Parts: sequence; C-alpha cells; structure tokens
Amino acid sequence: MKEFVRFLPPIHELQKHSNLSKIVHTYDLSEESVIELVKAELDKIRTGILSGTFQGSEPSKSFFIETLFNRVEVEAANMTEFYLRKVINGTGTVLHTNLGRARLNEAAIEKMIEVAKNYSNLEYNITTGTRGSRHDVIEELIKRVTGAEAAMVVNNNAAAVFLILNALGKGSEVIVSRGQLVEIGGSFRVSSIMEESGAILKEVGTTNKTHMSDYELAINENTSMIMKVHTSNFKTIGFTKTVETEELVKITQKHDHLIFYEDLGSGVLYDFAKHGIGDEPVVRDVIKLGVDLVSFSGDKLLGGPQAGIIAGKKELISQLKKHQLARVLRVDKITLAALEATLHCYGKTEEKVREIPTVKDIIEDTNIIRNKVDCFCSMVKNASPQLAVFIKEDFSQVGGGTMPDVQLPTVVVEITHPVKSSHELAKQLRDHSPSIVCRIKQEKIILDFRTISEEDIPLIVRAFNQI
Ligand SMILES: *Cc1c(COP(=O)(O)O)cnc(C)c1O
Repeated sequence: MKEFVRFLPPIHELQKHSNLSKIVHTYDLSEESVIELVKAELDKIRTGILSGTFQGSEPSKSFFIETLFNRVEVEAANMTEFYLRKVINGTGTVLHTNLGRARLNEAAIEKMIEVAKNYSNLEYNITTGTRGSRHDVIEELIKRVTGAEAAMVVNNNAAAVFLILNALGKGSEVIVSRGQLVEIGGSFRVSSIMEESGAILKEVGTTNKTHMSDYELAINENTSMIMKVHTSNFKTIGFTKTVETEELVKITQKHDHLIFYEDLGSGVLYDFAKHGIGDEPVVRDVIKLGVDLVSFSGDKLLGGPQAGIIAGKKELISQLKKHQLARVLRVDKITLAALEATLHCYGKTEEKVREIPTVKDIIEDTNIIRNKVDCFCSMVKNASPQLAVFIKEDFSQVGGGTMPDVQLPTVVVEITHPVKSSHELAKQLRDHSPSIVCRIKQEKIILDFRTISEEDIPLIVRAFNQI
C-alpha cells in the first residue's frame, strides 16, 4: 500500500491543473485559498495511504488527481455556503428564540436596506447642518408610543438591565422580590447580572409571597433602587402575593433619590389582552403609573429587531446616555432603521399594527390558518400520495419566554411516512434547502401553519416530494 505514495501528483503540477482554475471560477474563491485546499487534501490522502486507511485498489496519477479535486470541490462548496440562512418555522411558536425571534415587517426591511446602501443622518442634524446624536433617531418616537418623558436604545434588554443597574445602582442596594429573581433562556439571571453590575442585591419576601412591608422594611440610607422584574417565562399560582407597580411607585416616592425601575421583559405596545391573549401590561399604562424607568426587548412581543428600549424620567435617561457603558452597548444604524420603522406602525391604525408579523401571527384567525392547511394538504396529497396526512386542532405557543400560560388555538397537519420514522423524516426536512423545522408528537411529524407563510407552502410540498 505505502508505495502508492509515488503515484501522488506533485503540488506544482496540481497548481497548474485546469480543475483548479475551474473551482476558482465556479466558487469565486481566490487561487491562494483553493491551493490551500489542494495542499490540505493532498496531505490527507498521503496520510491515509501511509496509515493504510486510504481506500482504492488501482491507484494511478490520474485516479489521485480526480479523487483530490472531487474532495477539493466539496470543501470549496462548503466554504462558500452561508451558515446563517432562512429556516421555515413549522413549530407554531411565534417568537422562537432559537429561530431568531421576531420576523421584521416589510417597511423595516426596506429602511434597513436604505441606510445600509447609503449615507444617512445617523449622527447629523440636517436642519442645522451640525453634529447630531444617534439617540435623536428614535427618542421622539419612543416617547410618543410609550408616553414617557425620555428614552434611549441599547443592544438588548439584558444590556438595558445591566446599564441601569451599573449606572444607577453600583455600590448601593437594589431591592428585588425573591419571587422575581428569574432566569431567562439559560444565560440571563437577574441575580448574576446584578452581581456583575456592582449593585448589591437586597432580596425581600419569599418565593410565593412578597408584601408591601417587606419592601418598606428593607429600605435604608444605602438603598438606591426598587426593581420589579417581569416573571416572563413562568407563572406562580395558588397562595401568592406580589406588590403591584402602583404600590411600589408610592413607596418609592416617599423616599428622596429612590428609583423605581421595572424590567418589563417583553414589553407590549399593542394590547393583546383585548383579543383575550394573556395579560401583558401595555408599556404606556405602566409609564402612566409613575414608574421612573422601564426597559423591554425590541425583538419579543414588540416584533422589531434585537434591541433594549429604556424609557422613563428625563433626568435618569440623560444620566444613562452620558454613561461610558451607553457607548459600549449602543446599537448600529441598521437596528435603528428597523426599530424606527417598526415603532412607526404603532400608534397608527389597526391594519398598520398588523403589518408587524409577530403581532399578526399571534392574533391570527384560525380560519386563515385552516386555509393554509387546506392548501398544503391538497398539494401534498397530489405530490406525495404515500404519506398519511391528517388535519388536527391543536395549540401554538407565543414563545420567546413570554406568555407561558397562553395557548393559541391553531390548526396543524400530522404526517407519517409508510417506512421512515418521524425522527428520520424530521432530519430530512431540516436538511432540505430551505430547512424546515417541525414538532414531533407521538411519533408523528406536526406542522403548525400559524408560523408558515403562504409562499413557503410549495417549498414544503417539494421537500416531502424529494423525500
Ligand atoms: C427576555 C428578558 C430579558 C432579556 O432580554 P433580551 O432582549 O433577550 O436581552 C430580560 N428580562 C426579562 C424579564 C426578560 O423577559
């Protein structure tokens, strides 16, 4: 076997081979990077021969050249493929954190392209022709939709919490109810972020009950803040007591320099509760109660890009804006463009608000979901008659760690293959381009059409057909 090594073509010969320039042109790769791939594959083949793992009975120079360039081509194709790409969400979970949370509205996408392609007035005041602030891009709009005195935007809500605690609570005590020391998505813990920020956590109450007096007794001369955290991803039921925002505002106002900050988690600008969906407080109503600061995510129920929005009292917001961390945590022009366009929909007509895919998907009428299901079923039964396809009523989740107790009635399709297991089928759907992610329940594939758009139906039919 080892003598096969002498059939290996020398690298200078491979460098001049026409297959190399073909790969360079097909994949738009630089010649240097393709030569690197050739060298790496040549090494692998040589090592394979010497260790006896290389499979091949009739080695000749041309055989090795062919094998080598075949392998280089596979590598070149992998190298030029995009890692981040479109996925069809067949889970029905509207804010799927693993699948990128909110989809953006058309206006937001257009605005992102506009500022990406062109120069913009990101930090330029067009009226005066002088330097402006990127906070100005969005502040008036947030004030309008939330009713707050002032506002700013940072990278995400976790960054907002960190900035507020570090800038206004470092070295002093911040009171939080034990029932609100939440963990969100595994990597965000209120207690840990508080420790990192330098603020001293003062826990009060118990897991299920915290009273007004618990807060009052905990306040001392070293207390800077009372913080309320939205228990986004769980509900406590039974023998429970939390102190309402209104009461916490009252306690705070009795003490000079004490700040009341509420981390709203998702923060809704649209009243989902009026559709009987959850009981999320609308940001405007929370601001009206007199809280000093609130913060919330841009890409949860708001339906915008990843961002953390801070709104509240002008004096506190200007302190936050001046803080060094504000520069560290600032957002880019593309985020601002998308957020501005999304926020523009709020405070307009109901139709405008429904242009935001997150809002639309959550309040979607089951009849519309059923129409998509019917369309898919008739197509798939034609294209892949061997599949067993059933229409079922089921429930979707809102997701993103929001509204954990809300079950949205939906229509799903249950699919089984005559020979393939549900896990095999799910794997093939994931490997399809575009990738399709579904639920598996009792050995059956479940596709929830709440989160599947009409344009994607033929793509899913084609995927099943190819399987
Ligand atoms: C989701 C959430 C966060 C983190 O928000 P990101 O925008 O994901 O950083 C913080 N606090 C609460 C209560 C949340 O629900």
